[in-house]
Amino acid sequence: RERKRKEGVNLLELAASFFRERLKMPEGEAARAYLDKRGLSPEVVRDFGIGFAPAQWEAMRRHLGERGISEAVQIEYGLLVHREDSGRTYDRFRDRVMFPIRDIRGRTVAFGGRVLGDAKPKYLNSPETPVFHKGRELYGLYEARQANARLDRVVIVEGYMDVVALAQFGIRNAVATLGTATTEDHLSRLFRVVDEVVFCFDGDRAGRQAADRALRTALPMMIDGRQARFLFLPEGEDPDTLVRREGADAFEDRVTCASPLSEFLFELAAQGRDLARIEERERYASQVLEAIGLLPEGMLKSLLLTELSRRTGVDQSSFESLMARHASPES
Ligand code: ATP
Ligand code: MN
Ligand code: MN
Ligand code: MN
Repeated sequence: RERKRKEGVNLLELAASFFRERLKMPEGEAARAYLDKRGLSPEVVRDFGIGFAPAQWEAMRRHLGERGISEAVQIEYGLLVHREDSGRTYDRFRDRVMFPIRDIRGRTVAFGGRVLGDAKPKYLNSPETPVFHKGRELYGLYEARQANARLDRVVIVEGYMDVVALAQFGIRNAVATLGTATTEDHLSRLFRVVDEVVFCFDGDRAGRQAADRALRTALPMMIDGRQARFLFLPEGEDPDTLVRREGADAFEDRVTCASPLSEFLFELAAQGRDLARIEERERYASQVLEAIGLLPEGMLKSLLLTELSRRTGVDQSSFESLMARHASPES
């Protein structure tokens, strides 16, 4: 098992250096131009180990084959694709800018690849392999730890490009989930190394939906002085576009002003509701109460119940009995 893991990690390291080398070669010209167009300097490209997968069907297969790595292993770790129907085997990543995804110790465990133009799919990730589980890894966490002697908080963003664009502007504490929602696994990994996470969502519908899910995932984990805050970007913006438009200081200000979980809970429930109306206020109170119910027992929970009572003018003991009823559905 351990030997197996080592074999996989070695193979992925070989692949990562293959991609890095190809970016420097003449065939990497268009990819270098693309990275330059997106404002990324050679230093950031180097720090994140960004590379290029050539526009060929068997460049990787040949490269690894010459180093004695069987096709079966290359398939297992997601570098080659084997199609049962046609019987063909070929390189998974072709003509893409390649982002190595590193684990907390800096070992490459997977890749994300972006097309240079508008082709679909825009991003292609490694499949689940013995060393890569999408719901666990966070892009940029290793790099953030490397760049900060003391890491106090991380900003969770949606994409690879957001992480590297922020780094380009000197904001070196961003991490991205890999095209999935933030999971409990992600958060417990993060809370092992920092006390505070700031969720930063794209200013689009997907971003607003993600916020609701992130809140629900975070609530049960709010113990021991852990903090979570929430930040929405303006409509149509993501961290990459925004930091370019406004600069690093303005972005940092937004992060500093992000709503603490204790306020975000109320803001989210109030969104799109006319609280002058009793029925809307009822739904508002139920939604907040449900969220509070997800918190572990403790001071924060009590304080939020008091706050809900203050905001709605309903006696706190009514909420407590309502919540008790929710908690035991058979009664
Ligand atoms: P860019 O700025 O390069 O266009 P982005 O990071 O802003 O990319 P989004 O469309 O906002 O792209 O998507 C956010 C993240 O979701 C991506 O970084 C990627 O991890 C994931 N993602 C997006 N599209 C796909 C896809 N087609 N397949 C798999 N993952 C994807
Ligand atoms: Mn988006
Ligand atoms: Mn985006
Ligand atoms: Mn983007």
